Amino acid sequence: MTVLCFFLVFMNVDLFLKTGHCAETRDQILSITPKTQEQVDLLKNVSTQYETSLWQPVSPQYIREEAQVHLFVPANSSETVKDLLQRHAITHEVLLANANELVEMQMRNDSTDPRSSSTFYERYHSLEDIYDWINRTTHDNPNTVKAILVGSSYEKRPLYALKLSLNDRPNKKAMWIDCGIHAREWISPAFCLWFVHYSLSFYKQNADITHILDNMDVYVLPVMNPDGYKYTWTTNRMWRKNRSLSKRSACIGVDLNRNFDANWCTEGASHDPCTEIYCGAFPESEPESQAVADFLRSHKDSVQLYLTIHSYSQMLLFPYSCRLDEAENHSDLLEMTQEAAQQIKRYYRNIYKHGAGAKTIYLAPGGSDDWAYILGIKYAFTFELQDLGRYGFLLPPSRISRACNEALLAVKVIAQRVLEKTQAQTHPPHTD
Ligand SMILES: [Zn+2]
Repeated sequence: MTVLCFFLVFMNVDLFLKTGHCAETRDQILSITPKTQEQVDLLKNVSTQYETSLWQPVSPQYIREEAQVHLFVPANSSETVKDLLQRHAITHEVLLANANELVEMQMRNDSTDPRSSSTFYERYHSLEDIYDWINRTTHDNPNTVKAILVGSSYEKRPLYALKLSLNDRPNKKAMWIDCGIHAREWISPAFCLWFVHYSLSFYKQNADITHILDNMDVYVLPVMNPDGYKYTWTTNRMWRKNRSLSKRSACIGVDLNRNFDANWCTEGASHDPCTEIYCGAFPESEPESQAVADFLRSHKDSVQLYLTIHSYSQMLLFPYSCRLDEAENHSDLLEMTQEAAQQIKRYYRNIYKHGAGAKTIYLAPGGSDDWAYILGIKYAFTFELQDLGRYGFLLPPSRISRACNEALLAVKVIAQRVLEKTQAQTHPPHTD
């Protein structure tokens, strides 16, 4: 570092003379816990006025006293931001001193490296790779996997959902899993690929997945926001929204998980296109959310379980997120997530919070799980996968398998319970 610093000083004497010390050369993730309202206000200001990206909470409005803030600070803002924090006596912890290295690690495709022992599913994949994988998977499993074109994105990329149908039982029920609503949450698409691979590999090998697939078809949409996902690979790793242009602002993108018709754009979402939680011009204004909503509307009689995969923060959430009152089957949903969290703790020693969205995090209207629930899919969940902020969105590839196995366990527990509940309804027990 000293050598590098010296070199940079040598290259840029002016900057050195102005700041008096060497400028940071690396993007960093800071963890900051504001202690007073003044510090809260300053942090809100930093996260909006400077070129930073707020990781947690999702929007400055949720910054509160004594609650941890995770802030991505690019190298060129690092000194300014740290000076500002110091001047206001706000202490910070560096969660990641070299985020660039993690980004590079995540993008590295070491499939051709013979020393690498990681499999295809233990790496992150570009959008093109995922489209290839969809092709390959349907081609290799012609009797059990079908790609369904459910719509296309704002930039006209196809939205393919894979339908896994392992037998031809009549009147089979179904579950839906979507991944990658939020572009920067890379572990999410990785999970969808993991899930499909596991299902196809362990059907007839593992009793739980066999029981589930014998009784349910599964629809898997690996990347719901392909334009945003592509953008995180090419231009801005921290992008969250889709890439649609606004008629009234230069700011780009709608938060697809605020764009569904569930108390749309009430407290917890924003009409401002420049925010990360912009709800769009009207419910389902975006082709991505409309495609998913249309598909679920036309399959609502068969789809009994809706799952949407996000990161990070390790939570198993269920409706409502858009209002504070309890869902009608709240105790069932609570029981299912509680059991899933207990199993994760037992097998992986990892803690997942669980509960209704609005009470566990904060109000978030217009989300897909609430919308699916209101449509009539009574078992609807949002999973927030690893981790708790150590790496955040930059979870290293070496952590993919653990993160996916935990989530897989939760899917299995919940799907089994849903089958029990719904089968009990179809075949009521004898009362005599
Ligand atoms: Zn998300």
